[in-house]
Amino acid sequence: MLADNGKWFNLGCQGPDIFYHNQRTRPLSVLYGSLIHKRGIGALCSALASSCSEPDASSSTLNDAWRAFVLGFISHVELDRLSHPYIVHMAGWVIPGRPESDDYRSCHPFLERVLDCLLWEKETGTAIRDFHQREELVPSEPIPAAFIERLSTAFRLAYPLRAHGDEELSLRMENAFLDALYFYSRSDPSRTTMTEGCPHGYGPAFVQHGYRSVSVVYPEGIDAAIDWANQSRIAWRHPCDPPRQSNASYFELCAQAVERAAPQMLAAYEAMNGSSSSSTRLEALIGDGTMNVGDEQGVQSRALHMAPLPIKSAMQEQFKRRVDLIHSTCPDADLD
Ligand SMILES: [Zn+2]
Repeated sequence: MLADNGKWFNLGCQGPDIFYHNQRTRPLSVLYGSLIHKRGIGALCSALASSCSEPDASSSTLNDAWRAFVLGFISHVELDRLSHPYIVHMAGWVIPGRPESDDYRSCHPFLERVLDCLLWEKETGTAIRDFHQREELVPSEPIPAAFIERLSTAFRLAYPLRAHGDEELSLRMENAFLDALYFYSRSDPSRTTMTEGCPHGYGPAFVQHGYRSVSVVYPEGIDAAIDWANQSRIAWRHPCDPPRQSNASYFELCAQAVERAAPQMLAAYEAMNGSSSSSTRLEALIGDGTMNVGDEQGVQSRALHMAPLPIKSAMQEQFKRRVDLIHSTCPDADLD
């Protein structure tokens, strides 16, 4: 599957985050991104897996691509559930009415990029600039219409109240892919790297928006004296619930996510081959719990406790280095 459809699997692994990236082309699907992260993911994954076994006129090539995409999509769930408490606790969040908390704006996605880089370096032994995100995630052919149709059908099954009356649902799905693929191309670290002269992927908005622009750029030369991944295994509290605590490093959380995702992906694989009992089991295995932070039952709830890492200063440093480099190496750059 990976040999033939690795790109579709990798794109699927972005899960419902593709809807978060739909911020340019209207009608938007960003609210669906929030809804899926909040609840209903078990029902959605089950509907997606079952759609793989429905007999229709689609070619087997298309079906194989769709199955790879769906398996990737399902793999996203446990990593979000396990890592979001750590990321929220270590990144902080903006609290309405508390201007000093504005320093935490965009820290969450930036910390995710830092952790992505560290995991990449640990797993591959190479620098993040060697990750060719566009080649790995962006298919060379257009997104098949059947993908949009099947996603829309699964949405209507999993979120009947929200999706049934939404006449623009299919268009939103299409726009999510459009904007997400644009985003993955623009933020490809092999293009945005600071190591090879004039870096690519930056436009005037990058400078105009200030230091927070780097929140979606893979950082390079990040301060290694800061224990971003909690490799020293210091205890940290669940942001919603002080009695719950952990000393897991980010890498340990990733390993746990693999363990938990494996039986879910196996059930999905069986459901894809037409087993309706596996489809029911898949929904129960994944459950309805939030992919953000919540109480012990998985109901999304407000985060209360944080112990943020010095993320704002790291973002400011990354921003300054990139702007200086662009101005000194890109004579034609029109960034002001
Ligand atoms: Zn996610």
